[in-house]
Amino acid sequence: MPILASTPVSLPEAISVLQQFLSAGPVTVLTGAGVSVDSGIRAYRGKDGRYMNPNYQPILYQELVAPSSIGKKFRQRYWARSYLGYPPVRDAKPNASHYGLSLLQRHGKIGTIITQNVDGLHLRAGAPKKAVVELHGTLFVVRCSHGHEIDRNEFQEMLGRENPGWKAFVDELEASGQQLRTNPDGDIELEGRSYDDFIVPACPTCRVEGREDRTLKPDVVFFGESVPEEKKNRSLAEVASSERLLVVGTTLATYSAYRLFQLAHNNHKPVVILNIGPTRADTVPSDSKGGTVTKLEVPCGELLREVAERMCANLPSDKVTTDILSKLRSSSTAVPTLMGPEMKSS
Ligand SMILES: [Zn+2]
Repeated sequence: MPILASTPVSLPEAISVLQQFLSAGPVTVLTGAGVSVDSGIRAYRGKDGRYMNPNYQPILYQELVAPSSIGKKFRQRYWARSYLGYPPVRDAKPNASHYGLSLLQRHGKIGTIITQNVDGLHLRAGAPKKAVVELHGTLFVVRCSHGHEIDRNEFQEMLGRENPGWKAFVDELEASGQQLRTNPDGDIELEGRSYDDFIVPACPTCRVEGREDRTLKPDVVFFGESVPEEKKNRSLAEVASSERLLVVGTTLATYSAYRLFQLAHNNHKPVVILNIGPTRADTVPSDSKGGTVTKLEVPCGELLREVAERMCANLPSDKVTTDILSKLRSSSTAVPTLMGPEMKSS
């Protein structure tokens, strides 16, 4: 594949390159925020790699779990904003990238999907849970400091019950069809509002055990937090055991993602990167032992839809697969001009 990182490539050329790449055998896939942009979930970074909102300051892990009253304030701020920001993330629908990857996976063209996204959209597009590694966790589970799990939808109701004033505000927004600007982690930007009256509910399981635990956190890797060992090891093992790596919609800015690229490249595995805008791997040259690095700067939804259609449409399929194919065909691909990574762990 003689395409260099800096060479502009047309959609038909990209289709042919990707089809050839996927035909050579199962590929591990690494995805980032760019694949969810078509689903209306905003990326942290724009096309030029800069933060979309330079004033946005995500809460740090140490702040969110601090036992002090300072920690309590951070939890009030986080959960108040997450209470408002959750509905659009909960209601987001997978797009052509998710469905295309799902279809390719069901037909054995790709193996495990490792994602930096916490929006659960690969799973909702039909990828089986055991074939997806959510490197930075998921927004759909809440954990107390004793490790108990609470379903996020259930927790949303608990938040509403404890905070009727805030619930009225959310109901009003929903009724009027307004949407707040939501960040990829389900947090929203809300200036000039005090969170002092916001009540973070106590963990129900801890309560049964005779304790009050209000140090609750979504099961997401925060800034300043490490990826859990088990996920880190599994993602490295997936890349090590596959023959090639496909990177989609990420600038590889986080180290947890970049080291997967490095592992593949250091072992001379071919890598294809689909991303509009710069990535951390752009200056990495192909090696002479098969370790090619190919960058395709094309909209990933359109490309994956075409490639999945061509490679899978005529293969025998079950009901679930047929359903995914029909959703792929009807899914829209808005012009995805804003792409960027999750900025989570280091
Ligand atoms: Zn608990």
